[in-house]
Amino acid sequence: MLEQIQDFARALQASRYAVALTGAGASTESGLPDFRSNTGLWKDVDPVSLISMTALRRRPVDFYRFYRMRFSHLWGAQPNPVHKVLAALQREGLLKRLITQNVDGLHQAAGSPDVIELHGSLRECQCLRCGRRFPSRLIDVEVETEADIPRCQECGGVLKPGVVLFEEALPADAIEAAIEAAMKADLFLVVGSSLEVGPANQLPVLAVQHGGRLAIFNLTPTFLDPRATWIFREKAGQALGALAAELGISL
Ligand SMILES: [Zn+2]
Repeated sequence: MLEQIQDFARALQASRYAVALTGAGASTESGLPDFRSNTGLWKDVDPVSLISMTALRRRPVDFYRFYRMRFSHLWGAQPNPVHKVLAALQREGLLKRLITQNVDGLHQAAGSPDVIELHGSLRECQCLRCGRRFPSRLIDVEVETEADIPRCQECGGVLKPGVVLFEEALPADAIEAAIEAAMKADLFLVVGSSLEVGPANQLPVLAVQHGGRLAIFNLTPTFLDPRATWIFREKAGQALGALAAELGISL
């Protein structure tokens, strides 16, 4: 790996506009469980079916119980080396834009100043009626009947998690900023993403189409591996830790 890391470190130092995209694999080292895995609590329910506007409307009690479980994991989660190295690269000016599919806010917790959150943020909630945003502590409440559904203090509308649910569009400003960054990128890092979820998985395609070179830090193969100049198949935290050491960056 070392030779490849040295080569990539030189390319990063020579780059003019490096961009990174992170996915779920960036946060697994922080102990955030994949909600698709069976936790017992959900053995009779498919959690994926709950992450939708339909579920929020038709099965609100299950919906908020599911998010309460996600919050219980979120509050204790700490940034890991992936978040820390990427924040350090931003500080050093080596990484110009950071795009994430994650909703856990751990990039910001690691000190990343400017993060494009394609799927929103679990640290906020939003009123379905007036659109105001609040801290998500307001929806981390016991919901036993529909009367308990958390509501906006201003207008009484239903509060939903600040994440993009199925049947919702991605936030337009985030997707526009991400597309612009991908098209400008001369170096594009995919970190902890298997590139299975669109439209995020089209961002590195855009980068390559516009002449950018691709580096993939992921444990499993992706459909873009044949187009990548560098592939790091170990834990993203290890490879990025080696990169930081090679660049002489302290975390
Ligand atoms: Zn409201």
